Amino acid sequence: MTEDWKNRVFLTLNAGSSSLKVALYGAYDDTPIITGQADRIGPEGTLKLKDGEGQPMQVVAGDLTTHDGALGAAIATIRTARPDLRLAAIGHRVVHGGAQYTAPVVLTPEVMEDLGKLSSFAPLHQPHNLAGVRTAMAAFPGVPQVACFDTAFHRGQPFVNDTFAIPYRYYEQGVRRYGFHGLSYDYVTGELQRIAPHLMAGRVVVAHLGNGASMCAIYRGQSVASSMGFSALDGLPMGTRCGQIDPGVLLYMLDQEKLDTAQIRQILYNESGLMGLSGGLSNDMRSLEAADSPEAHRAIDYFVFRIQRELGAMAAVMGGIDALVFCGGIGENSRVVRRRVCERLGWMGIEIDHGLNAQGSQIISSEFARTTVMVVPTHEELVIARAARAVAGVPAKEAA
Ligand code: AMP
Repeated sequence: MTEDWKNRVFLTLNAGSSSLKVALYGAYDDTPIITGQADRIGPEGTLKLKDGEGQPMQVVAGDLTTHDGALGAAIATIRTARPDLRLAAIGHRVVHGGAQYTAPVVLTPEVMEDLGKLSSFAPLHQPHNLAGVRTAMAAFPGVPQVACFDTAFHRGQPFVNDTFAIPYRYYEQGVRRYGFHGLSYDYVTGELQRIAPHLMAGRVVVAHLGNGASMCAIYRGQSVASSMGFSALDGLPMGTRCGQIDPGVLLYMLDQEKLDTAQIRQILYNESGLMGLSGGLSNDMRSLEAADSPEAHRAIDYFVFRIQRELGAMAAVMGGIDALVFCGGIGENSRVVRRRVCERLGWMGIEIDHGLNAQGSQIISSEFARTTVMVVPTHEELVIARAARAVAGVPAKEAA
């Protein structure tokens, strides 16, 4: 590595409504130098940072009541610990790139204006993501900033997976099935291309199972169907989100229960999914597995059922399946969920080796199975860092 790139670093930012995740990467090493997270930004805000060895860092005191303050405190901590580092570019996670943004884009005033118009499509995320961009622009004038979109990976989907069967004018207005978790699918696709290119040339279903959960059918490297749609509510049940729901239920809530949109939003986003089905027991799979109660069972049963159903649908639209890949906190760590999802799927060529599954090996399918089943830990921040490196012009020939 030349001296020029040795101390230059790339910051990734993921700004949510009350949280801010940061990570710092070097020009070539894919292990972050520093990671951190501010939570409950407001009167009870907290900030934690860890160095590359996972050791907690001494946080410089700051104002954690605003995103600006939290970013300032994170930057001050990093600067104090590593005065040698120079910031080369910043990458942002932005949930919505609309129909037009199919790849990361350098943030200019024009792009910011475009992205601001998409806030009505993702009112819970987009305004916070863009506020994070403005904060970073004010803190680092002149440093190039790039937006990476959760929707971009899916933009090549065929029309039939991009639309709803409502009056066509809605499609034209942008009411489409955008799909999300694109940074995760981008990373996993890249990993598969590296470790098993023959699979990537075929029909792959990736199940991103975390607190947010979705699945994506990937045919020859291209997303052809996703379980999430217009919003991040559709598809699989999640920690607290409902997943697929008959719109008639919403009409019932409106007409019969006389709930307003804020109340329905609260139910669908925050009181449903694993949390709702378990009767408020937990949104956390680890806790549900440990609880081993009827309430926990019915939540896990439904989660597994919907994954299997989606898997069948995705295999059908691709004309079969060559690989099933698990990622996300549950996909990477819950051998119970992986085992249960793969049960009774012999007809799809899916059969796991219980020993390999228990160990969480990279390949968990049995030796004789027709379909490869894998666990690939995802790394969304790294996708953002790579986009920031590209914008800064890190010479590819020097990549490790
Ligand atoms: P994520 O949003 O990707 O961080 O995933 C969070 C989810 O992963 C939560 O439901 C956690 O309970 C779940 N999870 C993490 N570790 C485990 C584990 N060892 N067993 C079961 N679920 C886990």
